[in-house]
Amino acid sequence: PRRSRASVGELIERRKRVMGSRPYVFYDPPLHMVKGEGVWLIDAEGRRYLDCYNNVPIVGHCHPRVIGAIDHQMRILNTNTRYLGEQVLEYAERLGASTGGALTACAFVNSGSEANDIAWRMARAWTGNPGFICQDFAYHGITEAIDAVSPSAMRQGETPGHVRTILAPDGYRGPYRHGTSDMAARYAGDADRAIASLAKAGMAPAAVIVDSAFMTNGILAPLPGYVAAIFETVRAAGGLCIADEVQSGFGRMGEHFWGYQHHGVTPDFVTIGKPAGNGHPLGVVLTRPEILDHFCNQTAFFSTFGGNNVSAAAGLAVLDVIEDGDHVRQAGETARYMFAGLRNLKARHPIIGDVRSAGLAFGIELVHDHADLSPAPQETDRLVNLMREEGLLVGTEGVHGNIVKMRPPLIFQTGHADLALQMMDRALARL
Ligand code: PMP
Repeated sequence: PRRSRASVGELIERRKRVMGSRPYVFYDPPLHMVKGEGVWLIDAEGRRYLDCYNNVPIVGHCHPRVIGAIDHQMRILNTNTRYLGEQVLEYAERLGASTGGALTACAFVNSGSEANDIAWRMARAWTGNPGFICQDFAYHGITEAIDAVSPSAMRQGETPGHVRTILAPDGYRGPYRHGTSDMAARYAGDADRAIASLAKAGMAPAAVIVDSAFMTNGILAPLPGYVAAIFETVRAAGGLCIADEVQSGFGRMGEHFWGYQHHGVTPDFVTIGKPAGNGHPLGVVLTRPEILDHFCNQTAFFSTFGGNNVSAAAGLAVLDVIEDGDHVRQAGETARYMFAGLRNLKARHPIIGDVRSAGLAFGIELVHDHADLSPAPQETDRLVNLMREEGLLVGTEGVHGNIVKMRPPLIFQTGHADLALQMMDRALARL
């Protein structure tokens, strides 16, 4: 990669001048990346980092087939979406088929936030209800409507009056812990409370929105029966169900293409973003045709860029790469291998209180005390920086900021997992 002449210090000052004084960047000092290559990111000094923060380029950075499809289409045609085109139809048909034919109508947008916003508007239009339910530390995006169901992003202020938050099924730290009988039903019972609370205020739910991997709640493994029970409760109260697959979709959780399939449910909406274009901005709402039609009868739904020629080509290429490489099944296998390694680290480093896997998304929770579970957020920050020094990129997550979040790309191999585990081991020893 081309060496950059600007120092990190200069870039951060320049950034503050033109992009706000609170730059939302990782690490102190932040990293200046100049190149991506498969599982690797390369900084301006030429140092290579194993990217286990990966939440966008799910088939690896700069995948040649995705780049080739984008480049090819860009040279032929990229126009607004009010002309007929074939690729976007093929893309929609293949997405619909991936839901087993349950959700065959697509609304194309450009980001996960937009997808959730449009799903919400469709749910409002379909049900006529005002209420919205989400998990208590969820993140679903940046529009005003979706910020209302993103408590993890709220720095101040309170949840709007039409929103009710419910417990996430955290069997390690939540009120019902692993080993509790009927754990799923107990957690799901919180949806009854939320709906009763809405009813008391004269409202019924339009929708519940669930991130199938509970990413911001600290990455929680599927709890059998939990999401199904919530969906049932919300539907009985007249609401629809949104599976936010922005992070959990595209094989991230292994075995199944969609995260919701791990929960044994069929949602009314699947919303996607991040990995759909492997870095090319692309968002989609998948729903039932009658719900989309109802919405389009009420409003002229149209997105200038949504589902344009290049986006469709990118989306199709990502599906091709995942299918041809058998990456969903492989992700499940690599996830099991990595999870075994993480459990091994837990056995040797007492600061680790819990390790969790939602497929190729891992949460490593750091605590001072295994009995009272007192969180160790400062150590978590330090550990993440030490891991960066070792050459491994991860994030932090959770209400207390004491969870290390790892999401390697689907092309991660067991050799990469070994490397990551060695780097983690060294960083933990240095902590
Ligand atoms: N939903 C989830 C689960 C997300 O993680 C995110 C982004 N972090 C979004 C929605 C919003 O997507 P975008 O940033 O593309 O608007």
